[in-house]
Amino acid sequence: MLTPAEVLSDTGPLARHIDGFSARIQQQEMATAIAEALHGHYSLICEAGTGTGKTFAYLVPVLMAGRKTIISTGTKHLQDQLFHKDLPVVREALNVPLTAMLLKGRANYLCLHRLQLIETEGRLVSKRILTDLVKIRQWATTTRSGDLNELAILPEDAAARPLVTSTVENCLGQECDSFEDCFVFKARRQARESDLVIVNHHLFLSDMSLREQGFGEVLPAPDCIILDEAHQLPELATTYFSQSLGSRQLLDLVQDTRTAVSREAADMPGLPALLDTTEKAIRDLRLAFGMEDNRITWSDIREEATVAGALSSLLESLQQLLDYLQAISVRGKLLDNCWRRCNSLFDFIESYAGSDAVDYVQWVEIRGRFFYLNQTPVDIAETFQSRLAGYAAATIFTSATLAVDQDFRHFANQLGLGEMQTRVWGSPFDYQQQALLYLPESLPDPRAPDFIEAFVELAARILRLSKGRAFLLFTSHQALQTAAGLLAGLIDFPVFVQGEAPRSELLSSFRETRHAVLLGTSSFWEGVDVKGQALSCVIIDKLPFASPDDPVLQARINHLNRQGRNPFMEYQLPQAVIGLKQGVGRLIRDANDYGVLVICDPRISTKSYGRHFINGLPPLPITRDLDDIAAFFAAREK
Ligand code: SF4
Repeated sequence: MLTPAEVLSDTGPLARHIDGFSARIQQQEMATAIAEALHGHYSLICEAGTGTGKTFAYLVPVLMAGRKTIISTGTKHLQDQLFHKDLPVVREALNVPLTAMLLKGRANYLCLHRLQLIETEGRLVSKRILTDLVKIRQWATTTRSGDLNELAILPEDAAARPLVTSTVENCLGQECDSFEDCFVFKARRQARESDLVIVNHHLFLSDMSLREQGFGEVLPAPDCIILDEAHQLPELATTYFSQSLGSRQLLDLVQDTRTAVSREAADMPGLPALLDTTEKAIRDLRLAFGMEDNRITWSDIREEATVAGALSSLLESLQQLLDYLQAISVRGKLLDNCWRRCNSLFDFIESYAGSDAVDYVQWVEIRGRFFYLNQTPVDIAETFQSRLAGYAAATIFTSATLAVDQDFRHFANQLGLGEMQTRVWGSPFDYQQQALLYLPESLPDPRAPDFIEAFVELAARILRLSKGRAFLLFTSHQALQTAAGLLAGLIDFPVFVQGEAPRSELLSSFRETRHAVLLGTSSFWEGVDVKGQALSCVIIDKLPFASPDDPVLQARINHLNRQGRNPFMEYQLPQAVIGLKQGVGRLIRDANDYGVLVICDPRISTKSYGRHFINGLPPLPITRDLDDIAAFFAAREK
């Protein structure tokens, strides 16, 4: 029998199945290390640089081991790619019989009950929603999976989506008339019977919680777990282990109660007026939080008269609604569902208003017309570790960006992983030949008021040398907007700015437009893959330190200070180093790519901590001379 390394060699089955397959020693070593971990039933953290081919490096040993496995990836897009593209190739090359299932969160599946509800309740909806509902109804009669992503004409953010998908709160479960045909439960049943289940981190974290509570886990009990894009886990787990209540949930409750009353208690006087009062109280609380989008620590505003008054009115309305619903909940399952939801929303708000927990930070996010009351754990290590231990599975954490100076402690400590085996493989790309790092000497401190003008002026000069073909990556929306305004008069290249169109649309426009320039913030620092010369230059404004005004970061800094630890060195710096590694990873995507990286934050050279950022970069040549950029492109584009 072949070893995983032999399978991935240039004479192995994968090379025979894939045109242009190139064997990489890093990939073979990673596959061997994972095979050993699976065989020895121990866990492993491994970082592999861009271009290693991590996906094949874990798929080969997983398929060869033939054990029950969960693979969790960062996004739905990666999940689809893994299931529809990579897995079939490896499965065919290895010729292994194995049942695999792609499982997504419930918000991706059509809810037959809610589709029927919206069609029959006669609610006023926009023309756009109406058109989408007609298409969804037609598709519902033919789909086997119920996965709304099959419906290419329905965008991710379509307003019709929340109307035809379920949430944990509004799902009727076994009480539902459509339970037998329900796509969510069918997919889960199938997943439990499969050898290999591909999920995303949201679903995996949700399964972790259900398993710990001892009921209704979604995924099969695995022998091994692969957590790809594992650098995202600390932040996602923090969000997942948080409790949150959004004003949208409250408004949905009001709307669903209206529907329930019209169907099951149309004779009840008084309820419509009470629902109007509750809706007004929700909107008044939103207004009390101010007009601008913001993230505010709850203890900083809870005493303000407008906030305290609006919150108390909302609690009063909800209490009345709760009493009313309790009295009539026996009349039907829709009313019963609304009563339960009202109960849990009321409990959350009441305890939120009066809580002084120290293990959690309470903070309010104000976004557009909505607000979110959040309660986030300051430290997730213990919770994550104990939930993961519940699987008793060999777990592989992998990503291109986990270590800081080859040290995994920052990553491992956040997740409570303790002592674990770790491995690092550098990228197989030849960065000495393929790339150049330019560190400008003349820019002011990034906190100085004249920084952004100086940055834009320099960026324009570099863009003329690279002929556009560049990403400008920013650490804040404000800097991006200012730069976009200033840049407009300085260059003639087509410019795409984050926020002007959805991310995927911006990226395809960028790929298709010659000499384009794209300005983006955090969502463009990772998960973006532009191969070839369309992207030949990445210009970064500042080292990506998180804003110290963020309530969760502030609480973590305070927490570490209380323990006598150094929050900057132990938390803020490693986070920023990993963030920079992600941003830099956009530049060189395959062995034929070449390009220039520009980091405009002088602190990378002037501060003692700057070396940690440099150490985190691939081994590329460094210059401080703008002429070298011209020479770099001239040598490659003769
Ligand atoms: S069981 Fe839940 S998700 Fe399934 S159709 Fe019924 S309400 Fe919708």
